[in-house]
Amino acid sequence: MAEGHGLITTQADVVVIGAGIVGLATAYYLSRRGFNVAVLEKGYVGSGSSTRNAGRYRVHFGNRENTEFAIRAIKKLESLSSELGWNGVFERSGYLWLIRSERVLKLYEELNNEIWKPLGVPVEILSTDEIRERFPYINTQGIIGAAFGPQDGAFHHDYIVMGYYERALDLGVHIYEYSEAKSIGIESNRVVNVSSNNVFIRTKAVVFAAGAWTGELMKSMLNIEVPIKPLRREIGITEPVRPIINTYVIDTERSFLYVGQTMRGEILGSIELEGVEGFLPYGNTLNWLSTWAREVIKLIPALRNIRVMRVWSGYYEMTPDNSHIMGRSEDWPEGIYVVSGFSGHGFMFGPLAAELLAKYIATGEVDPLMKPFLPTRFKTGNLIRERLII
Ligand SMILES: Cc1cc2nc3c(=O)[nH]c(=O)nc-3n(C[C@H](O)[C@H](O)[C@H](O)COP(=O)(O)OP(=O)(O)OC[C@H]3O[C@@H](n4cnc5c(N)ncnc54)[C@H](O)[C@@H]3O)c2cc1C
Repeated sequence: MAEGHGLITTQADVVVIGAGIVGLATAYYLSRRGFNVAVLEKGYVGSGSSTRNAGRYRVHFGNRENTEFAIRAIKKLESLSSELGWNGVFERSGYLWLIRSERVLKLYEELNNEIWKPLGVPVEILSTDEIRERFPYINTQGIIGAAFGPQDGAFHHDYIVMGYYERALDLGVHIYEYSEAKSIGIESNRVVNVSSNNVFIRTKAVVFAAGAWTGELMKSMLNIEVPIKPLRREIGITEPVRPIINTYVIDTERSFLYVGQTMRGEILGSIELEGVEGFLPYGNTLNWLSTWAREVIKLIPALRNIRVMRVWSGYYEMTPDNSHIMGRSEDWPEGIYVVSGFSGHGFMFGPLAAELLAKYIATGEVDPLMKPFLPTRFKTGNLIRERLII
């Protein structure tokens, strides 16, 4: 490593762009396979969506490919405390999807019979009487049923991010913070280097794990079209209170209102108002806060008078089919890879996606679970349309 005029010059087998859950986990699994890895992060570790999310996981998705991926991803996620030596604070409190119309009830029944039951993760379809009995705090007015997924749960994102960060450092991964990747050198259709504002790295491979920024970066650096767009999402948390909510409640037909309670007792959640794509400034709107508060209290009256302590926002990284993108396309320069575009469920999918991508880079083997999510699907038209995004 050489330093001069404030610019560090070094080399690495692989450079990962982005130090969120996906980039850190990718660096860690690549390093475990013997690669010398460097990570460039334009802010600080975890400054993107990976520390701005709701910390929830589920195995229930709207198609077979995502559900199969989720089942393996959640096994991986739940095993991370022992792998990383940091307590991920896992809790399987379930997801309760409230349903207000026959059309949506039919959809959940179909998904249950055709995908979830055959894959061994059935939900319980509940009547309103059963909802009242098991979740007495819910105002069931207008609700005709629910789907309860007992396999789903919660984690604490900060500890998992820090776990990967620490273990990656232990393995010798170089993580450059406040180092914004600016350009990639290509010679004879192969990657030869990556430059940031303060580091120049000779390398043969680059992994784009830059979350919501990935689409824009790949376009500006390489003129490669990877359809990933940022969508700002707001979220809030209250002061801690006694246990009131014993699951994660999602009102599927009321602007996707979601609310749960953390182990510390805070009420956490959001409501999805109409989103505008683009890098809107991090921040919150009074309209979002008052709508969320009003709708939560309507649904769970026991939550009135609890004080909101903190609100924030982050970007979902949306793709046209709401499913993630991983791997590479043959027409890209040799050594360019992507793992991004998780469309709102990237923390729970990130560790497995990173592990599979590392295997692919090391061996060239496309795992069957990864295959449907290759970037080439946007050319072949084999989209993995995901309906159950929250
Ligand atoms: C409100 C909200 C709630 C959510 N809830 C959940 C949930 O309950 N469960 C779940 O699984 N997921 C959830 N998500 C989604 C999840 O947070 C993301 O999918 C996941 O964190 C994506 O991880 P990432 O590493 O790809 O991206 P990020 O964490 O965004 O990391 C990308 C990093 O790349 C860096 N970067 C960008 N450009 C450059 C550059 N040029 N050079 C160097 N670095 C660069 C950024 O600074 C950033 O740190 C939620 C997201 C939000 C916003």
